Order: sequence, then C-alpha cells, then structure tokens
Amino acid sequence: MAWRSSGATNEELVNNLHKNGVIKNDRVRQAMLGVDRDHYAPRRPYEDCPQPIGHKATISAPHMHASACESLLGHLNPGSKVLDIGSGSGYLTHVLAELIKPHGTVIGIDHIQALTDLAKSNMCKSKEGTELLDSGTVKFITGDGRKGWPEGAPYDAIHVGAAAAEHHQVLTDQLRAPGRLFVPVEEDYAQHIYVIDKKEDGSLERKKLYGVQYVPLTDAPTV
Ligand code: SAH
Repeated sequence: MAWRSSGATNEELVNNLHKNGVIKNDRVRQAMLGVDRDHYAPRRPYEDCPQPIGHKATISAPHMHASACESLLGHLNPGSKVLDIGSGSGYLTHVLAELIKPHGTVIGIDHIQALTDLAKSNMCKSKEGTELLDSGTVKFITGDGRKGWPEGAPYDAIHVGAAAAEHHQVLTDQLRAPGRLFVPVEEDYAQHIYVIDKKEDGSLERKKLYGVQYVPLTDAPTV
C-alpha cells in the first residue's frame, strides 16, 4: 500500500489515503486533515513514505500513521489518556491529540532531547498545535519509552513508534482496562504490528497484524 496514496497537498494525501481504504473512519480523516504534515516532515511531506528527521530517526509513512489511528480509534475519545512512545517528529502525537481534545492528554516520549525539542517546535508552527501544548493537552517527555511513563498511567491507548525486541509487560501494566497497545515487534529477523487489548477483566488478548519496517527501540545514544 506504500507510495500509492501520495498527494500534492496535505488534503490530497489524506483524501488518497481515504480513497485507498487506509483511512476508513471520518474522525481519522478529519484529524489528519487538521495537521499539516509539512510542519513535521523536512522534505516531501505529502509522499506516502517515511522521511529522515535526523538522529537516525524517521517520521513514519502516512499510511502507518493512519492505520495506527484506525486501530486505536475505539480508545481515542474526548478525555482519553494516550501515550505515544518514540514520538520523533511529533506528527502522530498531534494527530492523536486532535482525536482526544478538548479534555484528554497525549504524552509523547522520546529518548533524544533534540527530538522532543523538535516535536515541540514543529507543533508550534500552527495555532492549533500551540494551543494543544499551552493547554497541557500534549506534553513531551525525554526518557526511555521502553519503561512507558508510569506517572501518567493508566492509558486508554499506547502507541509505540519504534520496534520492540519483546512484549514489554511494563507497557500493558500501564494500560487501562479496557485499553489497547499498538506496537511493532521484532522477532525472527522480521517485524510485525501487534495489537494487545487489555479487556475489562484485566486479561490480555494479542493479535498479530501485518509486516512492517520500523527503526528499533534502543538505548539512548551516549553523545
Ligand atoms: N512516531 C514517530 C516515529 C519516529 S522514529 C514519527 O512518526 O515521527 C522512532 C523514534 O523512536 C525515534 O524518534 C527514536 O529516537 C525513538 N526511540 C528509539 N528508542 C527509544 C526509546 N528506548 N525510548 C524512547 N524513544 C525511543
């Protein structure tokens, strides 16, 4: 599905993702129309592919952002609490905030300070993004996302934007019941998206979805 949905403008990109069936729900479409990807991707913002943002990180492809929102949508409602691990450019953090505002919170966490600074300055390129930061609807934290962020738990939804080497129980521990974790997991030299639901009784249900290619969740660089 990569490449097919590119457009000349943000609106064209989002409408192509919708036409191609990647965006199914109008709430996701409206949220992505409300965030100009040009504020987050340094070049070719409306191409449906990942782009480098420095520090060995990439802004993920629009079709991956769209399918993460589609998958988490049942847990993204006004007032929801969301954790976005590996927030990188801040693009998805902003889109998630569009889906839970005005009363919820989205915490973006990245282990590279320069990237949490970049995410904040990217959000400040729009009036809407600035308001989300000023109101505390969006917060960026610098830290090791493999530990989640217990201070803000429990979360209705947790998105992981880098590939995990294992199922991190610490993350499902921080989910509300019900709640959902969307995480790329690396196993046998391949990566797949897993969706892990914590049901109302606290039990977990894991589903393996499709193959992907993400940068890995790692130790923080030492320089
Ligand atoms: N969702 C982001 C994806 C950025 S790429 C976007 O679309 O812009 C993955 C990000 O994960 C990088 O920014 C990288 O710095 C971050 N990352 C890698 N390991 C991490 C860790 N242990 N804790 C927090 N962030 C991590």
